[in-house]
Amino acid sequence: MKSKQFVVIGLGRFGSSIAKTLYSLGHEVLAIDIDEEVVQDISDHVTHAVQADATDEATLKSLGIRNFDIAVITIGSDVQSSVLVTLLVKELGVKYVIAKAQNELHAKVLYKIGADRVVFPERDMGIRVAHNLCSSNILDYIELSPDYSIMEVTALEEWEDKTLKELNLRTRYGINIMAIKRGNDINISPAAEDTIKKGDILVVIGGTDDIKNIEMQRM
Ligand code: ADP
Repeated sequence: MKSKQFVVIGLGRFGSSIAKTLYSLGHEVLAIDIDEEVVQDISDHVTHAVQADATDEATLKSLGIRNFDIAVITIGSDVQSSVLVTLLVKELGVKYVIAKAQNELHAKVLYKIGADRVVFPERDMGIRVAHNLCSSNILDYIELSPDYSIMEVTALEEWEDKTLKELNLRTRYGINIMAIKRGNDINISPAAEDTIKKGDILVVIGGTDDIKNIEMQRM
């Protein structure tokens, strides 16, 4: 991926983790927070760290916010500031704006004022951990939308030594196999004739309800 310019506003636990990770991946990161101490703490781990009130339009303009590719608004608990900053950043012309929401209503407002993507880190991580805890065969779980998910699942016993064609998981479970992991190998374009072996891990995509069906198989 080509190096991009990110601005991360609100350096709480979530925002600072995003800013540091983006920087470690080789991107240019401007990190902004109203709290001087947080700014000091992050200054060695990002390209630039600035203490500023991001609800002030003149400040955002002087920082050249409109030149950034992506803005990540991670002011969570102060809903009013989060909404105001998202609106300003969008109006200044940043093409892609991701904002963190506290709850569904907050998310709705953020989308209305132009956020391109809204995330709920606590809720999303809670869902993933709960799925991992409750089902011995689900290794990882990503919700794509309320209706669709991707998950890593260990092959059920009844799937072993059968080809994908024989298993016909698309019709039986409504899922598609994206990849098969076997030890250190990964087959990213499984064919109908490929056989599932004991211990294989399947990366599948499908309807959330269909995936729940598989989770129930081995509880
Ligand atoms: P988390 O739950 O990820 O720790 P918080 O909502 O607690 O997130 O943290 C939000 C951060 O946003 C805090 O560090 C806070 O100082 C910062 N913040 C709040 N309002 C503004 C603002 N107007 N301008 C810049 N930073 C802000």
